[in-house]
This record gives sequence, C-alpha cells and structure tokens, in this order.
Amino acid sequence: MSENTCPHIAAVTDVRLPERRECEECVRIGSDWVHLRTCQECGRTLCCDSSPNRHASRHARESGHPVIASAEPGERWLYCSPDDAFAEY
Ligand SMILES: [Zn+2]
Ligand SMILES: [Zn+2]
Ligand SMILES: [Zn+2]
Repeated sequence: MSENTCPHIAAVTDVRLPERRECEECVRIGSDWVHLRTCQECGRTLCCDSSPNRHASRHARESGHPVIASAEPGERWLYCSPDDAFAEY
C-alpha cells in the first residue's frame, strides 16, 4: 500500500474483485455507466462518479461502506470516500 492511506483502506487485506462487469443498479433501471467500482464491504459492483447515476458514491453514503476498488481491468487501486484517501495495491 502507498502512504496516502487511511484506517479503512489499511483494513482491506483481501481486495474484493467484481463478480460481474456491470453496475447492478443500472442494469435494474436500464441505465448506462462509464466505469465500475466494487464496494470492499459488501462486494457490490456499482458505477463511478462519471456515470449519470453515480451508484457507487450513493451506496457509500447510504450504507456507510467507505472503501471502493476500481473494477476496471488493469486498474489496481482503492479509494475511501469519507477520507478522500487513495492507495494502489
Ligand atoms: Zn477511510
Ligand atoms: Zn449504476
Ligand atoms: Zn457496500
């Protein structure tokens, strides 16, 4: 882990990877997404802040699950929204 981390990111020992390459909420409502993120607390894969519905950030706010991982192939980073902390792994 890099230095700009927080206790939430430091607590992630096994990074959860996406089970499906789609935003489950967007699929449900028939919307589109840009990039995908995976919640490290519950493993849900949701869309990024460049997507119209920003489901990952909404999920973080509503659930209190702080850390997401990029679910994009080749990207290996974690982000904690409450702390605005970022770490590659
Ligand atoms: Zn944090
Ligand atoms: Zn979505
Ligand atoms: Zn979650």
